[in-house]
Amino acid sequence: MTFDVTEPADQQSGWSYYGAAHRYAVHGSDAEEAACARRTAELAATGREAELHALADAGDRCAAIATLEVLVDQDRVDELRAMGAAGHDPAFVTLMELYVRRGDEAALRAEAATAERARFWLSALLVRSGRLDEALDELRRLVAAGVDTHAAHGKMLDLLLEHGREDEVRALAAAGDRPAIRRLNFWQHRDRP
Ligand SMILES: [Zn+2]
Repeated sequence: MTFDVTEPADQQSGWSYYGAAHRYAVHGSDAEEAACARRTAELAATGREAELHALADAGDRCAAIATLEVLVDQDRVDELRAMGAAGHDPAFVTLMELYVRRGDEAALRAEAATAERARFWLSALLVRSGRLDEALDELRRLVAAGVDTHAAHGKMLDLLLEHGREDEVRALAAAGDRPAIRRLNFWQHRDRP
């Protein structure tokens, strides 16, 4: 799972799924790559979603991504949410990333009421808004709840280091927090501008 939601909202590069179908070569040859891109684009553009879904269900990852793109592009958030709630993880992640890009804090909070994981994206939005302490609180709540613990704790450490709160990471490291120890090690040897 990718949690990088820090890139500017007008770029797609940080989406986990949206725009990701042919970001890397996955088909073995340029010809197959082009043929797949053409097919999925054609199905999406002509509204043949049943065919896209059939391909996705048969394991075609590019088609699976295209089904999510259609929902995002057409602002069909309710359908995206329904898929996510039904356990479709890429749909859930895409919905979260969409909310962060829209700056929709209320939607993320509403989601967190039923899906604790949403706090990860809520924290990303809070950081973006300069509300670091609130963001850290959301990450701590994830750790306390035992949800995405490793990622949440790591993100908390990264945020502390990025915002000049190295002392707090040092205190954790001194108490035996291994991720804190490893991060400090890299932090001390990073390239300084
Ligand atoms: Zn493809």
